[in-house]
Amino acid sequence: MKKVFHAIALACAVLVTSGAAHADAKNPKIGFSIDDLRVERWTRDRDYFTAAAKEMGAEVFVQSADASEQRQIAQIENLISRGVDVLVIVPYNATVLNNAISEAKKAKIKVVSYDRLILNADVDAYISFDNVAVGEMQAGALAKLKPKGNYYLLGGAPTDNNAKMLREGQLKVLQPLVDKGDIKIVGKQWVKDWSGSEAMSIVENALTANGNKIDAVVASNDGTAGGAIQALAAQKLAGKVIVSGQDADLAAVRRVIAGTQAMTVYKPLKQIASSAAKLAIQLVRNEKPVYTTQLDNGFKKVDSLLLKPILLTKTNMDVVVKDGFYTQAQLAGK
Ligand code: BGC
Repeated sequence: MKKVFHAIALACAVLVTSGAAHADAKNPKIGFSIDDLRVERWTRDRDYFTAAAKEMGAEVFVQSADASEQRQIAQIENLISRGVDVLVIVPYNATVLNNAISEAKKAKIKVVSYDRLILNADVDAYISFDNVAVGEMQAGALAKLKPKGNYYLLGGAPTDNNAKMLREGQLKVLQPLVDKGDIKIVGKQWVKDWSGSEAMSIVENALTANGNKIDAVVASNDGTAGGAIQALAAQKLAGKVIVSGQDADLAAVRRVIAGTQAMTVYKPLKQIASSAAKLAIQLVRNEKPVYTTQLDNGFKKVDSLLLKPILLTKTNMDVVVKDGFYTQAQLAGK
């Protein structure tokens, strides 16, 4: 009897340990580790991703780290021990996942960096929108409205590589205008965790420091734009000082319609989420995904698929309705 138990235990152990090494290509298990599901856009990413993956026969385990790097590392380790075949990660902090990813690779688990590039780690693929292009759209739209004046650069989270790529795109547009003497950059700051309230106090201070003489705030996303616009409203400057954004958050598209935010960037999340699900499953199945470029993450040149963002202003708001992102009633605040 004891021998039989031993044999069964051994068989189970072999099954468990071989789980990751022999990925289930037909019904892969995907671990989706998301920085922060408390932020509007990521719940959409999760829902579109899960739906697309299920349609392709995969099972998805979702975790939210709620802006904690320790929690994200623990959650990734947990997903590894659950025997997922592929990890799809939206990193909170781009630079601290090296060890967790080495562990995944040892267990033959593929790793996809989602929306934000993970730095200095052996990731298999990266999928995002072209973040430099987003930055160019933000600064470009503002510079078209105010080709001269005082600009404040409100960057994203310093832990997020996207924040740097956005700034790169913004400066591509602004630097020549600064060099010409048309635009003056009167201050710049990164916003911890992309926090709206932090953005608000940064802009309050910037207004005070510049005697309210700011013409444009280059905000890097809608959450921080919202904070900036609150600070402007307190000085009766909302709508006068132009502000950029990205994500087409509901509050932000309403501000664009109302005229207190100059633009936002619509990134069709269904497209990134379903392309990412497909990419992750293709990696498990050892198929060749389609990439558009390679980006250096400090460890290697990472195969990358960059999707096209869409500039959204008052004049082409119908795009988000046609795409099913919002209904007309939602835009109207009903
Ligand atoms: C994303 C933005 C988002 C921000 C805050 C960035 O990495 O690209 O879409 O607004 O993170 O969550």
